[in-house]
Amino acid sequence: MIDAQTELYGIIGNPVRHSLSPILHNGVFRRMEINAVYLALEVKHLKEALSGIKALGLRGVSVTIPFKTEVFSLLDEVDEVSGKIKSVNTIVNKEGNLIGYNTDWQGAMEALEEKVNLKEKKVLLLGAGGSARAIGFGLKEKMSQIIVYNRSQNRAEALAKELGCNHCPLSSVEEMEWDIIVNATSVGMYPHDAESPIPKEVLKKGMVVMDIVYQPLRTRLLQEAEEQGCVTIDGLEMLARQGAAQLEIWIGRRPDLKEIREDLWRALGRVPLTPSLSPAGRGEVADAS
Ligand code: NDP
Repeated sequence: MIDAQTELYGIIGNPVRHSLSPILHNGVFRRMEINAVYLALEVKHLKEALSGIKALGLRGVSVTIPFKTEVFSLLDEVDEVSGKIKSVNTIVNKEGNLIGYNTDWQGAMEALEEKVNLKEKKVLLLGAGGSARAIGFGLKEKMSQIIVYNRSQNRAEALAKELGCNHCPLSSVEEMEWDIIVNATSVGMYPHDAESPIPKEVLKKGMVVMDIVYQPLRTRLLQEAEEQGCVTIDGLEMLARQGAAQLEIWIGRRPDLKEIREDLWRALGRVPLTPSLSPAGRGEVADAS
C-alpha cells in the first residue's frame, strides 16, 4: 500500500515508456514487502532531472538511453568501475549526494560466468556502443582475451585501444577460433529479427554464445548457435541480473533472480516452458533497462 512513508525510485531516459524496469523493480518491492514504488520518468533535460531527484528525495534511479554517458560528469561521485567505463546506469541518492554505479557490466559478467570461466578465454566482442563498452571492461577485469569487431571500424579501433586489445575485420572473425562470442550490437532485434551479426559458419560446437538483444529472446544468432551445438545465453539473463545488482545497491539485499526472470518473461508476453528454457519473446519494448 502506498502511504506517506513510501519511498520513490525510478528510471530516467527518453524514450522510457516501454521500459521493463518498473515491472522488474516493483515486482521485487512487492515480494520483499518494501514500502517503495519505481516509476518510468521520461526526461527532456538531464541536469534539471538530477536537481529534481535531489529536491524530491528519490532514493535511487536507473539511467537508460540516451543519458548513460552524459550523466557521468554531472554526478557528485562515481564508483571505480563506472569511472573506468565512463557510463552510469544506476544512481544512489545518499543524503543529497548523487553517486553513480554501472551494473550493466556486472549483469553480463554474471550471466557469462554461470556458464564459463572467463579467464584467458578468447572472446569475440561484437559491437562498440554503450553496452559493448561496459561488457568489454567487464571482460578485461576477468582477464579474457578480447577481440572487438564492429560495423564502424573507427569505433572498434577506439574501443580496442581503451581496452588494450585488438580489433579485427569480419573476414578475420570467420577465420579465427573463439571460446566465447558476445553480441552487444542491436543486430537481430525486432523488427530486424531475421538478421544475425555473424555468419553461422563461425559458430562451433561447445562455444558459448551470448546475445544481449532480448527482443526477441531467441534471436537468429542464438537459434543458429543452438543448431551448431553451442551453449547459449539470452538477453534476459543480463537484463535480470543488472536489475538485481541495482536492487542490491539500493536496498542492500539480493532479490530472487528466478522470480525476476518470471516477471520479465510474462512482460515479454511469454511464459517459460521450463524454468531453464528461454522461449522466443516479442513484446513492445524499446530498451532493456
Ligand atoms: P548503442 O547504440 O550504443 O550501440 C549499437 C551497436 O550496434 C553499435 O556497435 C553499432 O555499430 C551496432 N549496430 C547497430 N545497427 C547495426 C547494423 N545494422 N549492423 C551492424 N552493426 C549495427 O546501443 P547499446 O549498446 O545501448 O545497445 C545494443 C543492444 O543491446 C540493443 O539491442 C539493446 O536493446 C540491447 N541491450 C540489452 C541489455 C540487456 O540487459 N539485455 C542492456 C542494454 C542494451 P556502429 O558503431 O557501426 O553503429
